[in-house]
Amino acid sequence: STSLNIAAIRHDFPILNEMVNGKQLVYFDNAATTQKPRLVLDAISGYYEHYNANIHRGIHHLAEKATSAFELSRKRLQAFLNAPSPEEVIFTYGTTDGINLVAQTYGRRFLKEGDEVIISTMEHHSNIVPWQMLCEENGCILKVIPINEEGELLMDEYEKLLTERTKLVSVVHVSNTLGTINPVKEIISKAHAAGAKVLLDGAQASSHLGIDVQDLDCDFYALSLHKIYGPTGMGILFGKRELLDAMPPYRGGGEMIKEVTFEKTTYNELPYKFEAGTPNIADVVAAKYALDYVDQLGKPAIAAYENELRKYATEAVQEIGGLRIVGQAKEKVSVLSFVIDGIHHQDIGVLLDQQGIAVRTGHHCTQPLMNRFNITGTTRASFAVYNTIDEIDLFIQGLHKVKRMLG
Ligand code: PMP
Repeated sequence: STSLNIAAIRHDFPILNEMVNGKQLVYFDNAATTQKPRLVLDAISGYYEHYNANIHRGIHHLAEKATSAFELSRKRLQAFLNAPSPEEVIFTYGTTDGINLVAQTYGRRFLKEGDEVIISTMEHHSNIVPWQMLCEENGCILKVIPINEEGELLMDEYEKLLTERTKLVSVVHVSNTLGTINPVKEIISKAHAAGAKVLLDGAQASSHLGIDVQDLDCDFYALSLHKIYGPTGMGILFGKRELLDAMPPYRGGGEMIKEVTFEKTTYNELPYKFEAGTPNIADVVAAKYALDYVDQLGKPAIAAYENELRKYATEAVQEIGGLRIVGQAKEKVSVLSFVIDGIHHQDIGVLLDQQGIAVRTGHHCTQPLMNRFNITGTTRASFAVYNTIDEIDLFIQGLHKVKRMLG
């Protein structure tokens, strides 16, 4: 039971009509990337057809039109996150880029030998490797919050890790592999009490939860639009103004400067200081339409419906003998990761694909998390607003077939 008209929503996503191996596509790989509604596709081609131009420096009509659409998107994202100002919303190539930006600017400038960075066991590689690179260069130390069997952070252990040496805590808001929603408000207030800053990896959270960076009081928030029905290759980094102002620039080049001479260059103000080069204009422009689409449906309604799907699927998979769900947190989003005794996850993925069902298999860029559970990978079904109970029934039939063939 949902207030959403799912049939009409499905109609908004042209790709859902694709046939895969003679079957209608069932797309359950939404945690990797969501599909795009027609209005986002139209916004991309509309930009190229009607006002393609480089932004900010031009005085001609098209350049002005492109610039204002680009900046309108920034304001839209500011509202989406409830950021205090548009200057605190930096366009990036995605979550990975946003985290690297912080590591390479804030981290390199302000973290010294012996300083500590805290991450967690359930981090995506993009929130592990940039900190390892920084530690290798600066001699700072990486600490890891452990988790329980259900896939929840051990908050007592987190508190023990926080010391006066902790400079930064960088954790995932919602786990892409387990679906766990982390208690980020508590994480942030405890870090702040210890004098540390906090970055949240919002790659998964931003499509399911309302995000209010002022209420969270996070120092940095990184996300990717392609997980929120928007285009690939673009995202944003929110940062508090005083931190962004204090940070050195990331990449050098056009747009990020105020004045260049061979003797000395001065840098542009926020947000342009961090936006060197020609950005992904078409996709930035289209991002606004993705967020409009989400808001028009209503995030709470989307989340409630996705939870219905997850609960139904969680019940239904119990009938598959030898199946074990990985990630049973009390607070979770519509991600269902599992293993089946004696059957390799890759074989499950291949056999489901033959039936037109797209799931993700493997370590999901969380190898240390796989090690924690003593597995090499899982099969992950992740649901979005256009998925249906009927599709889950097909998926369950598919799993029965996998069992018959390989079990
Ligand atoms: N963090 C999490 C939790 C993710 O799920 C992802 C995407 N799989 C990323 C970071 C990286 O996002 P992107 O590839 O868009 O940079």
